[in-house]
Amino acid sequence: MRSELGNPPGFIRGDGVERILLLGGTTEARRLAGLLAGDHTVITSLAGRTSDPLRPAGDLRIGGFGGVDGLAGYLRDAAIDVVVDATHPFAATMSGHAAGACAAVGVPLLAVRRPGWTAGPGDQWHRVASLPAAAGLLPRLGRRVFLTTGRQGIAAFAGLDECWFLARSVEPPTGVTPRNLQVLLDRGPFAVPGERELMLRHRIGVLVTKDSGGSRAKLVAAGELGVPVIVVDRPPVPDVPAVPTAEDAVIWLRARAR
Ligand code: NAP
Repeated sequence: MRSELGNPPGFIRGDGVERILLLGGTTEARRLAGLLAGDHTVITSLAGRTSDPLRPAGDLRIGGFGGVDGLAGYLRDAAIDVVVDATHPFAATMSGHAAGACAAVGVPLLAVRRPGWTAGPGDQWHRVASLPAAAGLLPRLGRRVFLTTGRQGIAAFAGLDECWFLARSVEPPTGVTPRNLQVLLDRGPFAVPGERELMLRHRIGVLVTKDSGGSRAKLVAAGELGVPVIVVDRPPVPDVPAVPTAEDAVIWLRARAR
């Protein structure tokens, strides 16, 4: 039951899942590290994209592994018992490398994948397959754009001189950017009233987002304001055991330990 899931998971040393590599960079990963760190050696791995990341409970390592072979070597050297891939749904390369390395070394792999979003009644959503496809569709839907695709996604919109962009990201964008760009450095969680106020203040005509899942605040605000939304579909990820939440990951690990 959900009510007991917030409690320490209650593993014991020697249960076969002592050393967990947690591929992170998400809220779920930090939450899972907090749930597990008291009972296990939990090593959270971050790519190193953020200069001042929120620190998870347990151990932390930062930086790429060097592809599938590098990760496989790390799993052996660090005597990892289980890998949990709790990376962002759009971090498909890392998820692919995790699947390849775990298969090569014979280490179990679990993915934590938050569910994607589905449109509700009255929502004006336009689903596209990629950021370039979003950029292609954009001028037909609106000229004042709220861009929430993360700083790595901003470059795809660089050619759209006819649009004005409010781009929200944790870190400033690097590389090419649109000519008419205002950057808003901020980190969630965000709530509906704030999102509504932000969109009204900037006279936003269209919202662009990746189908990241999680909080719907900006989507609810857009729906209330009649603002159309371009939703970029998730990339394909490997077919591995997956659960939707950190709490479900604890249950999976607990069952595995028996
Ligand atoms: P990606 O394209 O899937 O991965 C590119 C490379 O970055 C990987 O091959 C790996 O390098 C390294 N890497 C990625 N995640 C790593 C991790 N957790 N620990 C160590 N190395 C990692 O990844 P991405 O989309 O750039 O995302 C990077 C990180 O930001 C991820 O941890 C993800 O959870 C987080 N994040 C991503 C998004 C997004 O929209 N993509 C949004 C929020 C947070 P090697 O091949 O050298 O091992």
